[in-house]
Formats: sequence, structure tokens, C-alpha cells
Amino acid sequence: MATTLFNSFSKDSQSTAIIVPGNPALTISYQNLSADVKSFQQKLANLGVKPESAVSIALPNSYEFIVAFIAASWQRAIAAPLNPAYKQSEFEFYIDDLSSALTLVPKGSFAQDGAAVRAARKYNAAIAECYYDGNNVVLDVKEEGKLKGKGGQTIEHVRPDDVALVLHTSGTTGRPKAVPLTHRNLTRTMKNIQVTYKLTSEDRTLLVMPLFHVHGLLAGFLAPLASGGSVIVPLKFSASEFWSNFIEHKANWYTAVPTIHQILLRNPPPNPKPNIRFIRSCSSPLSPKTFHELEKAFNAPVLEAYAMTEAAHQMTSNPLPPGKRMPGSVGIGQGVEIKILDQEGNEVPQGSEAEICIRGENVTKGYLNNPEANKSSFTKGGFFRTGDQGKKDKDDYVIITGRIKELINKGGEKISPIELDNVIAQMPQVSEAVSFALADEMYGQDVGVAVVLKDGQRLSADELKKWMADRVAKFKLPKKVFFTDVMPKTATGKVQRRLVAEAMLKQEQ
Ligand code: ATP
Ligand code: MG
Repeated sequence: MATTLFNSFSKDSQSTAIIVPGNPALTISYQNLSADVKSFQQKLANLGVKPESAVSIALPNSYEFIVAFIAASWQRAIAAPLNPAYKQSEFEFYIDDLSSALTLVPKGSFAQDGAAVRAARKYNAAIAECYYDGNNVVLDVKEEGKLKGKGGQTIEHVRPDDVALVLHTSGTTGRPKAVPLTHRNLTRTMKNIQVTYKLTSEDRTLLVMPLFHVHGLLAGFLAPLASGGSVIVPLKFSASEFWSNFIEHKANWYTAVPTIHQILLRNPPPNPKPNIRFIRSCSSPLSPKTFHELEKAFNAPVLEAYAMTEAAHQMTSNPLPPGKRMPGSVGIGQGVEIKILDQEGNEVPQGSEAEICIRGENVTKGYLNNPEANKSSFTKGGFFRTGDQGKKDKDDYVIITGRIKELINKGGEKISPIELDNVIAQMPQVSEAVSFALADEMYGQDVGVAVVLKDGQRLSADELKKWMADRVAKFKLPKKVFFTDVMPKTATGKVQRRLVAEAMLKQEQ
């Protein structure tokens, strides 16, 4: 198995690695990709990027992102992809946190004095525009900053334990934490994903997740590349162009968050339906209802997976047929050990709920500059505490019941918000439901729910409570029901329950 990104894909194959849709579409073979990466690595070296230099990549999904990312890793530098839509203060936080040597921005950003440019200048990082000119990936250096006079050599050998990537967690439960991931961590996940979905050079995937998070980067891009397949890379997810791209470029699978699947359900494929080998869902809970709707509408197995930044993405997944898919479960571990441990680090009996813990070559050694979190995140046996509560059924299928920090603690009674979300989502009038903790004088916390109705539907709070009363214990019934038109989400479509709570309370005022 390849243990670095340097030897993780074939450099002389003529087959298609990357397709960027457009008129005409750009098609890049593995051989050309490798030549472009080599030449970009030389440009990075000339500028002064050396082992352990942090390179912030504030580019949208594009061919230049892909080349810059791989080239930085071959130079043994640390790639730090950033959401190009960040505001200046966010860029400042990340560029400062990583002491970035170089910040890559799209063409035209410098003249516009964009947010990333201003933030990079504040910390004296070099600034370069990066774009594809039809022949080459250009590195147009605008300011050399701290790299001035530092030009050097390209690096020939990458080691498995070199850090290749730093990404921050999504910040769902607090401030985002910086997670260093080594070549070994990344290649282990690439292999795990390849094995789980039996990816081969025949497979083609349409990338719709952003490359600045592990979901898009590992499952949507690096794993397919390691399998010799083709990755179709539009600028971003577009509901109106999804199926035309999928069909024109002969994709046969995709991976996305539940929000995107739901949008696609409202924009179904034309007839004749494309042949989809499987659909992967990850990063947020997929309700059993959406699971069934998707399988029916797209005539393909839906495989829900479970992942986190600290694990270089995937930990578990439901298997391909003839393996058993279990709606409401995130499946079984692949290339990683999963244990359900109590607070003392002891395994609980099969079927009991406690914290989901993992150990494997994909797992980070620890957060950057965060000794406190590192101390509390690992057990004595070297298992990483995910912060998620869950259980294993008799066949070792993992069922996530909530985040420990998000469990609603009603006078000592722990209530799983995911369970309530799924019950409410089964109502025919409901499009989406998110439950959360409300501060309560009597119980400390009580249950609140935010509900988005389907177009043209009506529902009262009493009707909703009546539906729930037939399905869950009385103490789990919501104290308050908020109806809203949109559910607040992060850039990757994640629900942050505490932000939903804040937004609903604000809406009420
Ligand atoms: P932070 O750690 O900063 O609070 P975060 O945990 O949301 O943010 P990520 O690493 O992006 O940051 O997300 C990992 C988390 O996403 C998991 O710990 C889990 O809670 C959730 N998750 C991932 N996949 C699933 C899934 N299929 N079902 C339910 N939850 C999931
Ligand atoms: Mg987390």
C-alpha cells in the first residue's frame, strides 16, 4: 500500500484523472496531472516553500486547487485548504494559527484586494494568484512576504509521518481545532475507502463537496485518484447542472451530505435514469426516510458512512450489496478499530450506549497547540474519543445516538436529539426537523425543535406533539416548537444545534 501522496497514484497512465466540466470540458490524464504537479512543485520551491512550510490554499474546487494541493505535499510542505468564502477575520485566524508561509488566491484577487489577500499581508505571508491558463497551472507571485530571498530546491523524498495537511474541525461543538494529518493518515483512509466501495479505474465520481474539508478531499477526490478512477470537478454543487454533468461525463457514484441528497430528490434525474453503482452519504445523520426515498428515486444502494476530521475522514460505512445496509446505522469499521467505551475507558456490553472511540493508522496524533484537548481526547489504550455517543448492534453495526455535548439533559434524563429529529421527519408535512436543548428553570434543559415544512403544508405545534406522543416517551416531548423557512447550516451543510437554538430564540423575539 502507498504510504505517501507521492506514490499514491500512477504517474504514467494515459487514462483520465480529472475532468473539469465546461465548454469545452478540460480532460487531464494521470500523466499530465503528474507533470503539472511536478512543475508546480518546482515553482513552490523557487519561491521558498520547503518542508513544513504551511501553504494556505484559498481556492475554490478547481484543477489549480488539485495541482497546488498535491504539489505542496510532494514538497513536504503542509497544505491548509481554506474556504474561499471566508471573511477577513476568519482568514486571519487560520493564516495566523498556521503561521502560513504562502497564501494561494484565485486570479484577480490581488487587484480586488480580497479578504484572503488582506489577511495574508497582515501576517507577512507570501501571496500568489493561482490559475490554469490552458497549458499550465500558473503561480503568479504578487508579494513574497516572509519568503523573500528564501528560494530553494525541490524535495525528492516524502516520508509517511510528514504532515501533509492541516484542517480545522467544523466547530460544531466549540471553537474549531487544528488537526494535522500525515501522509500515512491520508493514505490509510484512501485505502479504507477504496476497499469499502471496491473503487477501481472504471469508476467515475462527480465531486460536489468542497475540497477544503475532509469529505470532499478524501472521499470525493484522493480515494478515487488512488484507485485510478476519474474525478469530475465542477466549481461547486449546482442542482440544475448535477445530472447533466453526471450523465455527460459518465459518472457512476457520488458522495455528499444529506442536505445535497435532499436537494437532488427535489431535482430528480431525467429518464432514462443514469446507472448509479452506489450513493455515499456522510458527515451528518441521514434519516431512514431520506435513505428510502433516495434508493427508490435513484435506483441505487445508499451507503451511509461516518467520518470526522481527526480520522482523516472515514471511520465506518454500510457495505455494498450483498452486504446488509441498515438505515439509521453508519455501518461497520473498515481498516479501523471501533470500541464503545465508558468514561473510564472500559468497553461497555454490546448494545449499550457510550462514547464511540476509534484507533487506527488514519487517526491524527493530536491537535496542534492544544495540550488540554489532546489529554482528554485519547484513552490510556490509545483510542481517540470521538465525542459521539452510540452503540454497536449484534453484527457490530454502529448506531450514532448523538453528540455527547449535544445530548439534551432534562433533569438528568439524557435525550438524543437525533432520535427526535427522525421521528418528526417522518411526518408527511415535514421537510426537516432539528431538536436542541433549551435552557429551562425547572429541569436545567428542556427540548426545543425547529421545523421546516414542505411547500404548501400546514402543521400546528399541537399536531406535532400528538404525533410524537404516539412514538416517544412523554418526557421527550418538546417544550417549544419553532416553525422556520430555512434551517441555519454551515458551508458543508452541517447543522449546528446550538446555532439553530440561537437563531430560533432570536426569531421569536
Ligand atoms: P467540532 O469537532 O469542531 O465540534 P465537528 O465534529 O462537526 O466540529 P467534523 O470533523 O467536520 O467537525 O465532523 C465530525 C462529526 O460529524 C462527527 O464527530 C459526528 O458527530 C458527525 N458525523 C459525521 N458523519 C455522521 C453521520 N453519518 N451521522 C451522524 N453524524 C455524523
Ligand atoms: Mg468533532
